[in-house]
Amino acid sequence: MTAVSTETRKTGIEVVGDMPWGTHFCLFYETKEDLLEILISYCKAGLESGEFCLWIVAEPLTVEEATGALKDTVPGFSRYLADSSIEIVSARDWYLSGGTFDLKRVTAGWLEKLARASAKGYVGVRVTGDTAWLQKKDWKHFCEYEEGLNEAVANQRLAVLCTYPLAACGAMEILDVVRTHQFAVAKRHGDWDVIETAGLKLAKEEIKRLNDELEQRVLERTSQLMLASEALREAQAELAHVNRVTTMGQLAASIAHEVNQPLAASVTNAHAGLRWLGLEPPNLEEVREALAAIVTDSNRASDVINRMRALIKKAPARKDGLQINEVILEVTALMRGELVKSGVSLNTQLAQGLPLIQGDRVQLQQVLVNLIMNAVEAMGSVNHGSRKLLIGTGADEAGRIRISVQDSGPGLNPQIFDRVFDPFYTTKADGMGMGLSICRSIIEAHDGRIWASAMPGPGSTFNVSLPGAVDKGTALMGAPVAETLWSGPARSVPGASV
Ligand code: ADP
Repeated sequence: MTAVSTETRKTGIEVVGDMPWGTHFCLFYETKEDLLEILISYCKAGLESGEFCLWIVAEPLTVEEATGALKDTVPGFSRYLADSSIEIVSARDWYLSGGTFDLKRVTAGWLEKLARASAKGYVGVRVTGDTAWLQKKDWKHFCEYEEGLNEAVANQRLAVLCTYPLAACGAMEILDVVRTHQFAVAKRHGDWDVIETAGLKLAKEEIKRLNDELEQRVLERTSQLMLASEALREAQAELAHVNRVTTMGQLAASIAHEVNQPLAASVTNAHAGLRWLGLEPPNLEEVREALAAIVTDSNRASDVINRMRALIKKAPARKDGLQINEVILEVTALMRGELVKSGVSLNTQLAQGLPLIQGDRVQLQQVLVNLIMNAVEAMGSVNHGSRKLLIGTGADEAGRIRISVQDSGPGLNPQIFDRVFDPFYTTKADGMGMGLSICRSIIEAHDGRIWASAMPGPGSTFNVSLPGAVDKGTALMGAPVAETLWSGPARSVPGASV
């Protein structure tokens, strides 16, 4: 038997509404008409929901009356009758077959009906049995049966409605009946009464207690998860920082060269200035020019150092309005030396008039540094003359900013386009395999997407898409990014090409 679901069934009795499987309740009725009306509606609801129905009829109602009334009320009733979706049996035949009431036999009878109905494909069994035949001598025994029925129907696709004529019940009997059912309903003078039994009240309280407990657990679990995700976020930030410091370490030699160049030029200019000053009369015009050159060169050197410091510094994530082309140019300026050293020629195709993006400058620079370093490393295996790197920007129709970093290295097998972003995936002897995984978490934290793709021509392309800032007023669209490295001349931004 499949586990009983929490799905509910329509009782067809308005005052009761829906019930779960395993419901065992009772109805006290005054008149035969009331009884007929209620049970017809109860059986109709069952038949129309694919259940097998069993109606045990007792005097003064007869099987013929019940059948006739169903025929008059339930559309297509003859079909239900013909395919045995419903059986209408007299109480004497059902409860008293063999002459006496046998609690075990009757209970087993319900379960047998259920097994047969399930085998035939019915969703469950709906039963109603009348007790007008009950005599005083059988009462105690019958109460035991009713009590046992609660357990027998629990967790079964069975629902049982027992009907009792009010006229035949004294106060003691009513108490017994109410006690042995999950709940009771009574129809008197056309009005309904619903009596919750102590058992049902307890069950409801238990459900409420369990719900409260569950809610409490959910709250505790949520706060644990929040703590865990905070710890995870800190660990990720730490890892990203380590990645930046490591990458900067790899770039140290070429950056040192980048700083040394203007410093050496400043020393040369300072010597020249001293010489111009030593002349009689001193050539102040030349001195002024030498000093101006020193200022420019020193600024260049300190710019490089500041950018590097910003990348190495540990700082909380920020959301600034950023011009993506500027971010790219800062990175390429910092990596110029590394590109020259590796024999890579850089082209940029940066669309003008792009909307700003909301983001963290340092984190986005880190993504670019990682992508560029990967491209440089990938191109290490190809001929010097054909090491080309293209960085492009553009916007799509939805106003999202596109960045693409395309190299002329050996390229990537499309089968691993996604895997390269997995943590610790590396094909390099000294690789950590964290670079692209960190890039992905940074871009996703910016509500963006990063993916590898194949373009016509050699090499790999890494693409980033980021949402443009909401202010549509400034959201001028730039020209689209050229799709390949090799088609047509690149529009280089002055000072960006190496
Ligand atoms: P790592 O550089 O430490 O290996 P990454 O996560 O940055 O870690 O890269 C993972 C792997 O993806 C690399 O080892 C390499 O196999 C592949 N890969 C990344 N970028 C490129 C590229 N531009 N061309 C070819 N393969 C690449």
